[in-house]
Amino acid sequence: MKTFHYYIDGRFEDGEARFDSVDPSTGEVWANMPEARTADTDRAVKAADRALNDAAWRGLTAAARGKLLYRLGDLIEQNASDLADLETQDTGKIVRETKAQIAYVAEYYRYFAGLADKIEGRVVPVDKKDMDATTHNEPIGVVAAIVPWNSQLFLSAVKIAPAIAAGCTVVLKASEEAPAPLLAFAKLVHEAGFPPGVINIITGFGAECGRVLTSHPLVARVAFTGGPETARHVVRNTADNFAHLTLELGGKSPVMVFDDADLDSAANAIIASIFAATGQSCVAGSRLLIQRGVYDDLLARIVEKAKRIRIGVPSDFATEMGPLATRQQRDKIERVVAESLEAGATLITGGAVPQDMPQKGNYYLPTILDCRNTSASALTEELFGPVLAVSVFDDEDDAVAQANSTRFGLASGLFTRDIGRTSRMVKRIRAGIVWVNTYRVIAPSMPFGGYGDTGYGREGGVASIYDYLRTKSVWIYTSDEPIGDPFVMR
Ligand code: NDP
Repeated sequence: MKTFHYYIDGRFEDGEARFDSVDPSTGEVWANMPEARTADTDRAVKAADRALNDAAWRGLTAAARGKLLYRLGDLIEQNASDLADLETQDTGKIVRETKAQIAYVAEYYRYFAGLADKIEGRVVPVDKKDMDATTHNEPIGVVAAIVPWNSQLFLSAVKIAPAIAAGCTVVLKASEEAPAPLLAFAKLVHEAGFPPGVINIITGFGAECGRVLTSHPLVARVAFTGGPETARHVVRNTADNFAHLTLELGGKSPVMVFDDADLDSAANAIIASIFAATGQSCVAGSRLLIQRGVYDDLLARIVEKAKRIRIGVPSDFATEMGPLATRQQRDKIERVVAESLEAGATLITGGAVPQDMPQKGNYYLPTILDCRNTSASALTEELFGPVLAVSVFDDEDDAVAQANSTRFGLASGLFTRDIGRTSRMVKRIRAGIVWVNTYRVIAPSMPFGGYGDTGYGREGGVASIYDYLRTKSVWIYTSDEPIGDPFVMR
């Protein structure tokens, strides 16, 4: 069995307590993890606070911070394969996805490395004589970064990289469901040469470690990715420390296909949108809305492709869909599929556990439900699994009404060859991302985030670095004339 450590103040530690981690493809314990409770979480924050004010970090130039981030990006690229193997083992995400995704994470560190020395203040014209007025951007302080178990190297990169580029220090809490890749990543942070305490990586359970971290008086900003229920706790926690907050929560993203779309291309994108990562992706296109004229044709193409998806063990490069990360996750999916069938949905394919896979693993078949004219919960509830809820629409108004009938608003997909319609629809869709004739494309330079229950704030892109800065207004009186006595009338 493998043993992991966490990383506080430049040292690898055993943890206040320890717990076992389960391999989701076999259901067997494969590793033993450290668990931060109140004392170690507090120590990690204090280490980050000390580092923030220490000359070893504060005294570095912005360009030097950028160089450290470049080095970290290079180390991620060099170690991507090993990190991917760990993520595959701990989360069950298939190796062909983890290898590609983690190699790309290096680009996020490089992007923000390049931004580190491009943060400028302003000289502000003011209506006062003999006064220099300038604004300075300062690091906001200690950042608490919290990520869920899925795509965790990517989700932590969009928090750590801008925070470090801005001159902040960080305590990252990895999800207790699958902390291995982030605990291994801590070794790369160490190797890159960041001063002790600048980046601390711990894991622990949300109820204690997460609560202590997000309400800690020395934390100035919380960057959170997870579900809306947990986010409500985090919002309450930050009432204690008034920390700034970014929330990247879930989604129930609609993909709309119009009669004039390239149906083959759309079918491939739809399959990737919902069945990649076994549907455990915040941007999963879990609601498919098809215009009536192509409903049967498109549905037939998708069903045919879904049935051909190769389910297998995540470490096999031939596998196209692996298990779900946890048994609770699969239980929830089984419940919602059953409820949806009771509410009138029709099962087109899937809807069951595959019989030819290890039964202690959390496998579930690619599932398509025809939810036309129903209020099936598969249409509204975020499932975080391989379940596609399909519905029909007649025209643009109908498509917009159905697409926007969700409390979430993260991503959306639009398939049409009509440029006028594209422009009209883009303006009307209530989602932070609109992918037109494509899906699931990301880049470090593009903002990522949503509306409504998806939370607030955007990660990625130039503007996101300002979340980790605060403005200081500086007034300098430039005259040699002394300031007059305020109580003498002139
Ligand atoms: P959770 O909300 O359960 O957990 C997210 C993180 O919050 C975990 O590290 C968890 O720790 C921690 N946490 C739990 N309780 C608290 C607390 N009281 N205070 C502070 N932190 C706490 O999400 P899941 O791990 O189940 O991830 C799935 C969710 O994440 C889905 O809703 C998905 O849509 C969303 N997500 C959103 C993305 C986006 O960018 N919009 C991207 C990816 C996922 P622990 O695990 O130890 O309990």
